[in-house]
Amino acid sequence: MAPGLRDRIVLIDKATFPRDKICAGAIGARADRLLETIGVHIPVPSVATAGFQVSARCGTLTTRLPGRPIARVVRRIDYDAALLDQVREQGVEVRDGVALETLERRATGVELSTTKGALSARAVVGADGVGSTVRRSIGLPRGRYHAQAVEVDTPWAQTDRDRDLLCFDIVDDGLVGYAWDFPTRVDGASRVCRGVYRLTRGAPEPHLGAPRAEAARVDIAERLAQRLRASGIDPTGLHFRRYAERGLAWHEPCAVSRVVLVGEAAGIDPVLGEGIAQAIFYGKTAAEYLATCAERGDYRFGDYRAAVMRSPVGRDLRIRAAMVRFIYGPRRPLAERWVVGSHHLAVAGISYFSGRRVPRKRLWGAAVDLAAAAWPPWR
Ligand SMILES: Cc1cc2nc3c(=O)[nH]c(=O)nc-3n(C[C@H](O)[C@H](O)[C@H](O)COP(=O)(O)OP(=O)(O)OC[C@H]3O[C@@H](n4cnc5c(N)ncnc54)[C@H](O)[C@@H]3O)c2cc1C
Repeated sequence: MAPGLRDRIVLIDKATFPRDKICAGAIGARADRLLETIGVHIPVPSVATAGFQVSARCGTLTTRLPGRPIARVVRRIDYDAALLDQVREQGVEVRDGVALETLERRATGVELSTTKGALSARAVVGADGVGSTVRRSIGLPRGRYHAQAVEVDTPWAQTDRDRDLLCFDIVDDGLVGYAWDFPTRVDGASRVCRGVYRLTRGAPEPHLGAPRAEAARVDIAERLAQRLRASGIDPTGLHFRRYAERGLAWHEPCAVSRVVLVGEAAGIDPVLGEGIAQAIFYGKTAAEYLATCAERGDYRFGDYRAAVMRSPVGRDLRIRAAMVRFIYGPRRPLAERWVVGSHHLAVAGISYFSGRRVPRKRLWGAAVDLAAAAWPPWR
């Protein structure tokens, strides 16, 4: 927590913890490393992963980094409750089971009405996710990028070879999105969390041939069922869980006077829908920003967006928003060739994801590989 903010924070959450969140639970090690810098460790059952595997029409690339795990896969019911315990231990007053209903900004503060009575605050941080009441109350639009994701936990299939990898299937059959298979643990048993992500709003128009245009219309739950059948798993009776996600477009506002947004209330990665690490990094940025504002007694927050965009999470999200068109637009075949053809890109990406230094030579290598994937230009 940023100095200067302690003792002044009340956290309300409409859920009573432990609560689950529909989420595959893969957390890049950079988020754990960031939390460690303020002495926060979240020791919950998890599956450590060593690398990525990406499959596309033109092939499959498997990349492991030696040494520490690059990520772990948690169950959100455990992780979020343990994180909240740490928040309590840091001296924040936590009131769970309290939902925000309305928020009114005044010259001197913010008046909140909740399901358990009224609250007044000098400032409010909206960390209330994709359906953010705070965002709605301050009149911000829904945002440019929206996605849907559906997931299910299954036993391992015979087609699953590597149990220490985060697997992504970006095969271009018209889906503006991708499918994933992540190792996980459910009630102590080793399982796979399988899912499909689709960008439903803000997606560029892909160039589709007739069969792909037809495939593009298939609902993501049906796609997931098709993938399960292809792996020899009968989807009948399995518990599919579906939820929305909001991506951040770089030009979108994420604050008004006395109110700032973080995490999915503001917007996360529109390309892959990765949001846990981003939410944690937003937390650091917002805490430092608010500490400075509180010291000055200035709650206009006019430069919050700029502060976010300059911060690591803002740079991350700007790059990802810029990649939406490249990854899901007409150049998708090129993007696929590059992603599964460039070991340099994979090492650079995984290094970043896991909080390691990104070797400069890998970035140069990735750029050269992109040029090679684009050659000849009439492909
Ligand atoms: C199917 C699926 C799979 C995903 N898999 C991954 C993954 O593997 N890795 C990854 O990094 N990201 C993943 N994500 C994205 C990730 O789950 C979110 O981006 C992340 O949880 C956002 O964190 P947040 O804290 O902003 O919001 P949330 O985690 O949604 O938390 C918001 C909180 O606000 C509370 N709240 C809501 N409304 C109110 C209200 N009115 N009053 C009070 N409290 C309120 C909620 O109870 C909740 O506790 C996935 C998403 C989906 C849908």
